[in-house]
Amino acid sequence: QTKSNGGGAYRFFASEMNDQILKRRGLEADMRRGLDADEFFLLYQPRYDARSMRIRSVEALVRWRHPERGLVGPAEFIPLAEETGLIAALGVHVLRLACRQAIEWPGIGVSVNVSPVQFRGSDFVATVSEALSVTGLAPARLELELTEGVLLEDTERAGLILNSLKARGIQLSMDDFGTGYSSLGYLKRFPFDAIKIDRSFIADLHAVGESRAIVQAILGLGRALGISVTAEGVETAEQLTLLRLDGCDEVQGFHMAHPSKAEDIPRLCAMAEAASRSS
Ligand code: C2E
Ligand code: MG
Ligand code: MG
Ligand code: MG
Repeated sequence: QTKSNGGGAYRFFASEMNDQILKRRGLEADMRRGLDADEFFLLYQPRYDARSMRIRSVEALVRWRHPERGLVGPAEFIPLAEETGLIAALGVHVLRLACRQAIEWPGIGVSVNVSPVQFRGSDFVATVSEALSVTGLAPARLELELTEGVLLEDTERAGLILNSLKARGIQLSMDDFGTGYSSLGYLKRFPFDAIKIDRSFIADLHAVGESRAIVQAILGLGRALGISVTAEGVETAEQLTLLRLDGCDEVQGFHMAHPSKAEDIPRLCAMAEAASRSS
């Protein structure tokens, strides 16, 4: 009796595990297939100069156009891609797409998000250099958005990689600034050109309140260090007004523009340009 129960429980447990493994393997195989079938593409979200309100650059944001599941966002596949190592292939694809696309938009830059796993891979600098040389994009027009996670493990090695990217003329920004534990120390240690204030500080930004004080302090920090500050997740006119009043350098968010198809970017640039000239 006991023996058969135990066996049953074991079999149940084993089959649960199997289900999970199978599901993961399924997803992994699906992603591999999707990469081969060219199902991963980029949307681009404009980043505006807060003074002129012209578009300075666009951030590339990956999407998966899945044959059955429809449009899938990065939150649903980046973690799996990191676990399985597929992030390397995806990262190369994203970098090339973004650089190639940016060639068609003279006068603006493009920023690409970099996963910590991708960054730690053996040949990250080579991957970036290759994307630039294959597409012919000027290094100064490419910005890499890094989160604190990129820098956490081997800070010495991270420093070498960042310096060598910097030496090639590539721009570096710290994404989701304010959410980690060591952002301040990293600003001192690494050659960042820009900070992107995490959108959680912008979400409850009002004339009076803690978030405004924090945002103002980050803006002061940026000025003191000679680093450009971008506010991400700007959703309302009030937030935009406060950020411009407080001297924020750059703004990005649904209030100005959502992540958009490549074909819509020239029109968004022209609209911003016209609005800027008439104001
Ligand atoms: P992130 O780099 O911080 O990107 C900003 C995210 O906020 C994007 O979500 C964007 O669509 C969203 N967003 C922009 N403006 C607003 C706003 O006003 N309000 C709100 N609520 N959200 C806004 P998305 O595209 O789903 O990307 C999520 C995260 O996935 C990104 O965060 C980034 O960490 C990662 N990611 C996206 N594309 C890539 C990629 O190509 N490679 C890697 N490694 N990671 C990527
Ligand atoms: Mg980003
Ligand atoms: Mg961010
Ligand atoms: Mg984020």
